[in-house]
Amino acid sequence: MPSLFKQIQAGTVWDFHGGIHPPARKTQTNQKPIATLPMPDRLYIPLRQHIGVPGQLLVQIGQRVLKGQALTSADNSMAVPVHAPTSGVVLSIAPHTSPHPSALPELTLVLAPDGLDEWRVREPLNISHCDKVQLLNRIQDSGIAGMGGAGFPTHLKSGVAQPVDYLIINAVECEPYISADDLLMQEAATTIVKGIDILCRLLSPKAVLIGIEDDKPIATAAMKAACSQREHYYVRTVPTKYPSGGEKQLIQLLTNKEVPNGRRPIDIGIVMQNVGTAFAVAQAVLDDHPLISRIVTVAGDTLSQQQNVLALLGTPVSDLLDACGFQPEHKQRIIMGGPMMGFTLPDLSVPVVKTTNCILAPTVAELPAATEEMDCIRCSACADACPASLLPQQLLWYSKARDNEKLAEYNLADCIECGACAYVCPSEIPLVQYYRVAKADIREQQREALKAEQAKARFEARNERLEREKQERLERNQQLAAARQQQQTSGAGNAVADALARIKAKQAQAAPQDEQNKAQILAERELKKQQAREYQQQKAQQQAVEEHAEQHSQTPATSNSTDSKAAAVAAAIARAQAKKAAQKPEQLIKPAQSVDEMNKPVRAAEADPRKAAIAAAIARAKAKQQAQTETESETKTETETTAPLIAADAVNKSAVESNAASAIEDPRKAAVAAALARAKAKKQANAEPTEQTEASTTDPVVPETVVAETVVAEDPRKAAIAAAIARAKARKQADSENS
Ligand code: SF4
Ligand code: SF4
Repeated sequence: MPSLFKQIQAGTVWDFHGGIHPPARKTQTNQKPIATLPMPDRLYIPLRQHIGVPGQLLVQIGQRVLKGQALTSADNSMAVPVHAPTSGVVLSIAPHTSPHPSALPELTLVLAPDGLDEWRVREPLNISHCDKVQLLNRIQDSGIAGMGGAGFPTHLKSGVAQPVDYLIINAVECEPYISADDLLMQEAATTIVKGIDILCRLLSPKAVLIGIEDDKPIATAAMKAACSQREHYYVRTVPTKYPSGGEKQLIQLLTNKEVPNGRRPIDIGIVMQNVGTAFAVAQAVLDDHPLISRIVTVAGDTLSQQQNVLALLGTPVSDLLDACGFQPEHKQRIIMGGPMMGFTLPDLSVPVVKTTNCILAPTVAELPAATEEMDCIRCSACADACPASLLPQQLLWYSKARDNEKLAEYNLADCIECGACAYVCPSEIPLVQYYRVAKADIREQQREALKAEQAKARFEARNERLEREKQERLERNQQLAAARQQQQTSGAGNAVADALARIKAKQAQAAPQDEQNKAQILAERELKKQQAREYQQQKAQQQAVEEHAEQHSQTPATSNSTDSKAAAVAAAIARAQAKKAAQKPEQLIKPAQSVDEMNKPVRAAEADPRKAAIAAAIARAKAKQQAQTETESETKTETETTAPLIAADAVNKSAVESNAASAIEDPRKAAVAAALARAKAKKQANAEPTEQTEASTTDPVVPETVVAETVVAEDPRKAAIAAAIARAKARKQADSENS
């Protein structure tokens, strides 16, 4: 038995299970050349036109773009950019009805063509000087996705790492009405083969198999002619049967290989590309012409000009229909795609995209609407027609029951939604619609399960992280505790010594303060005692002076020698007081003063020894001055007559009293007061005869003395004067009594 490759080389073609033979209805379009449409007023360009994610937007509203300029960029492998089909201005970027059975809005860029059709700078590549990476990047950057209907990114399919045995070019185009690939092969077979060359450069297959249905003789001839110079390029015609263009079905037709359930063709060494994709690859690499247009079959009996047109991507369906003489009828249906796998459009503003190969506008008679669904009669016609060897009636039951496990068990995922089962169903059951809903439900459940799985993984990762951090904290704390324990063990004696040293330092710091406080208390106590003694002494002296004055007043007949002695005693007392005041001026404080006031000099001295020394020096100087003054006054008094002595006695007494009182407050004031008293005494002594005469006729002695003492208590000078007057009066009275 010849090997598989020998059989392929020999032109062997196999068959697949099931399939149907609907009316082809291709002659209305495959006999006419490709038409060119007038420039539309607006182009609606969805940012995602493939299986994957949209690219990053590169333009903004109001920006003018050139033909072929990228509107988005491919920032990851699953992204494919879109390009401006012509030059113009970006009017808006907003959601618009998508060319999808769900009709959900997709982000769409609206471009207003300026009619100039101005190209951007183009940089064709020389494939003989390019490596695979450059070629793949050019394919991706040109926005090429599978043009057979799936829309899978071509650069991913062309950059596989697995070894490739066969590169299959799908040119079957089995669905009724559609002839876009047929016309493309008829008119651009050479470019298609150049595109196949580029794909072979990327995949390095053993052989290239180009599958074409046997109802396309012109296209087949054109492709054979274009491939005549290529070794291992094999153009194979396959019987016209729907769905021969299915990936798995065509692989089985050309290689007799079956793709296992849940696997991809690359897993058996096969890569399949659409013939339109090969053409787009050649344009992208050799002409730097991105995917901005495609051939679309516009068919249906409501059109006066059924034909294939080269439509810019983004052209509204309404523009295509208008260009082909569209005459809508009541309840007109417009189908994007063929009658078997297409879907009805919600409105005519839906644009042409990369996967749009046909716009069908049939009449009601031509393509009747589905009638009312009836119950399944279990005829198994659907199973016989299924090219994937599935059991469509079981899938129907489980789809209605939403039993996803059973659906998986019956390989719903292998359903290619060809519609062959529904086409043959006598009960008019829209089986494919049920399968699409079930698939969407399963996808949603899978997304939810994936989310739950990811959330669970995050939760577990978080728990692991928390546990790890907890263990790390525990270990760290244990290490710190061990270090502390070791430190305490090694330095226990030092710690005790340190504690004792701290206590001693505190005590040493507190001792001077305590000593200072103790000395201060003793000084205050001694000061109080001394003040008390001085007060007693001063009081005793004052009593002695008063008694002496009283004796003089009671025995005025005594001799002048007695008065002079009393004056001398008084002067001696005054000098003693002045000396004391000079020695400790700050201690001559009134007994009524508070302890705080008495302590002020001490505190001041403690606070500032220099100030205290200066104050003491000043006080001593003043006391000396006062003492000298007193000595001079005493000497002068002793040399004068008896009357002046008596007056001086009185003046000195009052001066002593005054000085004693004022010296307590200010030694300087005391000296001034003493000088004033002496001056007045002299003056009084000079005027004594007149005063004695006047005094002999006035009041008795006792009241005068009382008045004098009262005045002394209030004003020392007045007191001195009053005392002198009183003594003079008393002497005068005594003289008068003696006589
Ligand atoms: S073809 Fe229709 S009626 Fe017949 S078994 Fe399938 S689903 Fe049921
Ligand atoms: S639509 Fe699915 S189940 Fe029906 S014939 Fe096609 S592959 Fe089979």
